[in-house]
Amino acid sequence: MKRPVILIFPSRKDDCTMMSVRYTDAIRCHGGVPLLIPMNTDEETLSEMIRSADGFLFSGGVDLDPVLYGEEKLNGTVEVDPVRDALEMTGMRLILKTDKPILGICRGIQSVNVGMGGTLYQDIPSQHPSDICHRQTAPATEPTHKVTVEEGTLLRSLLKKTVMTNSFHHQGVKDPAPGLCVAARAGDGMIEALESTTDRFILLVQWHPEFTHSTDPSSDALFSAFIKASRGDR
Ligand code: MN
Repeated sequence: MKRPVILIFPSRKDDCTMMSVRYTDAIRCHGGVPLLIPMNTDEETLSEMIRSADGFLFSGGVDLDPVLYGEEKLNGTVEVDPVRDALEMTGMRLILKTDKPILGICRGIQSVNVGMGGTLYQDIPSQHPSDICHRQTAPATEPTHKVTVEEGTLLRSLLKKTVMTNSFHHQGVKDPAPGLCVAARAGDGMIEALESTTDRFILLVQWHPEFTHSTDPSSDALFSAFIKASRGDR
């Protein structure tokens, strides 16, 4: 069976393109061929890469620059990377012209939401305070808060009505972009997953399933569905 090529938008540290092997392991273990997009990739090269890929993964990382959704930085907690933002926003514009599958993880849900025209809470503790801790101190393999999955969604076809997830975000989705709908929320109402309103496979989660892709059935299900969709087999 053909193995789908999954292009991954990575992190950056100084002049290095960075990526935890957890993402690439999860893609590989579920049958995909993971490829990283190097920082500074120009639009023409990116366009070639996107044409030859079967699916796209937007990974976790620092905050998006609020200027991308028409706001100024709220406070000093907002940490941005303009190089990464530029790569992802250019990539998104090209990817949205295709109908190939997209999986977003943590920053990835925020990135795709902003790229499609949505907005974010810049700092959950000051803009959406609650008793639920979205930035856990427990290890990432330990789920710490409950997420309720919306009935009738793609996500609900993959997961039970409620799942426990890990949580490492201080930003979150405020207004979903046109073309995206809420697929799951935490107990405080925080949006924890978005998906496409059309048949296109776009699945975006605020948690980090790559830490538990081989041990937790819910995490496994997300990667399995993404790779299956990228294979063109839905
Ligand atoms: Mn959370």
